[in-house]
Amino acid sequence: MSQDFATQRQLMVEYQLRRRGIHDPKVLAAMAQVPRERFVLPEYLSEAYADRALPITCGQTISQPYIVALMTQALQLSGKEKVLEIGTGSGYQAAVLGLLVPQVVSVERHEELSRRAGEVLRELGYQNILLVVGDGTQGYPPEAPYDRILVTAAGPEVPPALVKQLQPGGVLVMPVGPSDQQVLQVFRKHQDRLVVEELCPVRFVPLVPGVPNSDPREENPDD
Ligand code: SAH
Repeated sequence: MSQDFATQRQLMVEYQLRRRGIHDPKVLAAMAQVPRERFVLPEYLSEAYADRALPITCGQTISQPYIVALMTQALQLSGKEKVLEIGTGSGYQAAVLGLLVPQVVSVERHEELSRRAGEVLRELGYQNILLVVGDGTQGYPPEAPYDRILVTAAGPEVPPALVKQLQPGGVLVMPVGPSDQQVLQVFRKHQDRLVVEELCPVRFVPLVPGVPNSDPREENPDD
């Protein structure tokens, strides 16, 4: 693509987001600001604003811009929340959240991904995003409770530890279902019960319990 990244970003916001129903002005503004090109692999630079997920290292993906916006909008942020993200990946979603709330904690099981994301976020000047290497199915108790939780990897059900670390009245967004196809679900916590709303069919990489190399059953230790 010949246009510069700023132009591509504007077009992405207009055609992939606004015209498809992303209406929260703060979400649109954040998506218009974060330089997605910084979070993709060099070989995918020309596709940084393409309407799809892209491969990153460790066999993972950076989500499609529309899905990032949809999930962010589904969190119903007022701008005061502490947000927990599970699955830092490239750090792009964390960067979008970091513009919208005062505090983001993002957990990633792959140390390499977390380190790379940390470098980019630091270069971009973020100071409100705490990156943690660990098993996100356990949440991150030291900073709990969270007003919002966003799980950016798919699983058959919401991990109980995350329900526990969600503030009453809080919202949790997660792709729920089997490995080949999930539904993006939005949960609100009432006392200890979750009330669920379904958004749309999605396809995410799996939420894998544990961290690499700590589990001898892991099929690909170089993953
Ligand atoms: N939010 C990311 C995309 C996430 S892809 C972005 O904006 O780029 C899903 C990520 O979840 C992958 O990086 C994967 O390694 C991570 N993941 C999978 N299971 C996990 C677990 N149990 N704990 C933490 N991270 C996990």
